[in-house]
Amino acid sequence: MVRKEFDELRDSGQLPSPSGVGLKILSLTQREDWAIDEIVGVIQTDPALTGRIIRLANSAGSGATASITTVNDAALRVGIRSVANLALGFTLVAGNRAGRCESFDYDEFWADSLARAVCAQALSTQLRRSVPTEAFTCALLSHIGELALASVHPSEYAAILELSKTDPSLDMRVLETERFAIHSLEVSMAMIADWGLPDCFVDAIGYHQAADGEAHTKDTQAQELMSLLRMASTFSEFCTSDHGQQVARWPEMEFVRNELGMEATEFRAFCETVGESWGDWGRMLQIETAVFPALEHVEKLSKRVRKRTKTTSEPDDLDAADKFRPLRIIAVDDESTSLKLLQSHLSRAGHDVVAANNGKEALALTLEWNPHIVISDWMMPEMDGIQLCKALRRAQRAGRSVYFLLVTGRDEEDRVVEAFESGIDDYVSKPFNPKILLARVRAGLRLVNLREQVEREQKIQAEATSKLGVLTRKLRETASTDPLTGLPNRRYGMERLVEEWETWRRKQEHFSVVMVDIDHFKKVNDMHGHDVGDVVLVEVAKALRASVRAIDIVARIGGEEFLVVCPDTDDQGAIGCGERIRSAVETLEIQSKGYTGSVTISVGTAGITDDVSDVDMLIKRADEAVYRAKASGRNRVCSYEETSEVRRSA
Ligand code: GH3
Ligand code: MG
Ligand code: MG
Repeated sequence: MVRKEFDELRDSGQLPSPSGVGLKILSLTQREDWAIDEIVGVIQTDPALTGRIIRLANSAGSGATASITTVNDAALRVGIRSVANLALGFTLVAGNRAGRCESFDYDEFWADSLARAVCAQALSTQLRRSVPTEAFTCALLSHIGELALASVHPSEYAAILELSKTDPSLDMRVLETERFAIHSLEVSMAMIADWGLPDCFVDAIGYHQAADGEAHTKDTQAQELMSLLRMASTFSEFCTSDHGQQVARWPEMEFVRNELGMEATEFRAFCETVGESWGDWGRMLQIETAVFPALEHVEKLSKRVRKRTKTTSEPDDLDAADKFRPLRIIAVDDESTSLKLLQSHLSRAGHDVVAANNGKEALALTLEWNPHIVISDWMMPEMDGIQLCKALRRAQRAGRSVYFLLVTGRDEEDRVVEAFESGIDDYVSKPFNPKILLARVRAGLRLVNLREQVEREQKIQAEATSKLGVLTRKLRETASTDPLTGLPNRRYGMERLVEEWETWRRKQEHFSVVMVDIDHFKKVNDMHGHDVGDVVLVEVAKALRASVRAIDIVARIGGEEFLVVCPDTDDQGAIGCGERIRSAVETLEIQSKGYTGSVTISVGTAGITDDVSDVDMLIKRADEAVYRAKASGRNRVCSYEETSEVRRSA
């Protein structure tokens, strides 16, 4: 994981975090000895939260009959861990409903997350994969990294959101990585891990969008959650799309249907139930959800569009711009005779034409059917041709780029300039000469072909950039991370040490390093095997990371040697840090393959003084202090500055 970048986000103090009850639960569950009653007690102090948890536990109970009325029952039914995770999720929603990032739609974010959560839960129940309440929480929090980036970097995040709105072919993950050196899913993973939520959440969230997601983990729980998240994402994208897009997205929903092995009617009923439940939850959490469409209609339209599209051959090479192909055209006129005439000319030329009797009808049809060209009369009641064109140009997708041909009457010709200013591409005057009409349509065809070609090329490029971004990040991570413990490796640790040294030179604050070496580690290997030795290293690394501040940098710099770089820390501070680490390791009970045991460490600290000329000298001094700790009996902390031994274990 991209630890350093995440630490920087966390150090900003701006990351979204649970408040009140959520925070209390978090600190409870991070203790070793929490009891069920304590968590139940904390949740009961918040009646709204209590209600939500009881409700979810009731709805998640597949096959269970007795209804749940208390948090205690809920804990018995779905497990106290699930209940605690849910409480965390709900308090996060409550406390992070608005923020400073102007282009980030906070309401939409939560509506989307909620759709994902509700759907993941329903899928989990249906497929009997994972625990429904866990699926709910995991999906609810899966995109929390987006909220985090918007909270920590409101203006920069707004800028890339805008960029991706103007060019939907750009990949947000690539933009995020370019700007912040970490992308939102990685932030989600780190936050979830930080809150102590299960590891399977972290993996499922981190890799559910990767084509080879399942290959990233051997944990079947994570793999199950991953598949649920993937389907839930398809579902939530469908829920939050506008009507036209929903038609286009229906084939993706059919993938979900296949996975569920449901008949069309059964699947529609399933979706509608999820849609209703989304609405119910939305009302309860005061999150505005969209009205769910009539799915039978969406399905029908989707089939119609696909049938039409299939007959439309796509241009496939650079010289294909002029190549004829049937276009999807919407013809609009309030006079039925003119409309029929227009329709018959276009149909005879081989195009696929749908007629509309006025601007309003044409607008809805365009957004739904995504035609290549709209040919519209100017003067019409209610919404005239110019108003239609303006509305389309303002629309999000389908309408914005449609080729718009306006049909003008003789007396409107001197207002043609005005029409161009409203966004039309060309015009033809009425009564029209069919040859001229078709010539103009051909000009439109040329533009449509060219535009599609550019879009295809952009897509290929975006995919390549995205792949490159992932590769670069993986390379960077591999180059700086120790694969066994996940800690930064020697190279990265030393780089950071030099950076901190430079900062120190500017600020002249205190600055220390703490060197750690496991005692008699060779014996562990010799007596219990290398595998057990590896587990010991992993556990010691975790204890180290957990005992230092977020701004301290912990790296594995040798086989069983670790370095902690402590900015803004004087000698006493460093000794204190060393002692915290020492006692944390001493109390660790390590278990692996029948082995249960513990290890100790010797710790040496050294701080910057006027006579330290460079980082190598600082490291050398810390090494000397470790040597002294070893020589005077191990399991102790020695400071280079204080020649005497400072701490001894009991
Ligand atoms: P001391 O208390 O004096 O530090 O004794 P020690 O046995 O810890 O020190 P020594 O330097 O003699 O031994 C370190 C051992 O760490 C030797 C090496 O095989 C082992 N080691 C180094 N890297 C790894 C690793 O990645 N995994 C395992 N299991 N062992 C490792
Ligand atoms: Mg050693
Ligand atoms: Mg050693």
